[in-house]
Amino acid sequence: MSMSLDSTPYASHPGRPPHDELVPSRYALKVGDIDVLVISDGVLALPTKMLAANADPAERQAVMDDLKLPPEMVDWPLNVVVVRSGGRTILVDAGAGANPNLPKAGQLGHRLEAAGIDLADLTDVVVTHMHMDHIGGLLVDGVKERLRPDLRIHAAAAEVEFWAKPDFSLTVMPSGFPEALESTAQRFLREYRSHLRTFEEQHEIAPGVVVTRTGGHTPGHSVVRLKSGGDRLTFAGDAVFQVGFDHPDLHNGFEHDPMEAARVRVRLLREMAETGEMLVATHLSFPSLGHVAVTGDVFRWVPATWDY
Ligand SMILES: [Zn+2]
Repeated sequence: MSMSLDSTPYASHPGRPPHDELVPSRYALKVGDIDVLVISDGVLALPTKMLAANADPAERQAVMDDLKLPPEMVDWPLNVVVVRSGGRTILVDAGAGANPNLPKAGQLGHRLEAAGIDLADLTDVVVTHMHMDHIGGLLVDGVKERLRPDLRIHAAAAEVEFWAKPDFSLTVMPSGFPEALESTAQRFLREYRSHLRTFEEQHEIAPGVVVTRTGGHTPGHSVVRLKSGGDRLTFAGDAVFQVGFDHPDLHNGFEHDPMEAARVRVRLLREMAETGEMLVATHLSFPSLGHVAVTGDVFRWVPATWDY
């Protein structure tokens, strides 16, 4: 019997991921009868300043020290979710896609494949908003051709309207970002116009799968709420970031209406704490599954125990 090291282990094991990754990139769970899969699109390295755009340098430094986040650049986790309910397969957000400025993100394609999900399986896509780290995955070469011709892409009407003439006056972004965000959103709208199904405030996509507009981060920013058999989970999109529990009042540089975004964040966190439901958010550490606790005005993130 030989014990040689196999240099191509996956080739001989059908069903194994084609990429030999040292970290897990997907996590599955059930919310009642609804199947949920959190998939990591990778991480985005961004200036730390963006997590605390309205803090002065000393205050920002203190917050980052307290949370053990690096002072200059910080990796933002980037998660998407696949939901299966009532015979529909729904992708919530699409990651960053291929972007030379974001080399550690844009991994959704091979990670979906590794999870056994073909692009042609998707019946619906929900975009929580049209920033490029949420829609870029649909703009990767060859993706559109592999999607079903009857794919429905759900977005708030206010989001579609906003990107026709976006307002960046209250955002704090590195140079080049507003232009890149605007052109990416407009390209997305051009490419996928015929697939778009807009809603005003709320829309039920499948049994127990409801998308609800919150506004704040962008005018059409939305969250996806799952409810089945007494279980609940909310995918909060960009309503909450790594610093959002300890400092919900800190503005994020990507927020187009930061005051409203902070109100949305506090309202949502308070509700999550009250209902005790699970929270998943785009930019919390993978698999980003946990609960929200609150004492007075102070929120706390309570990560869920992994169920192996
Ligand atoms: Zn984002």
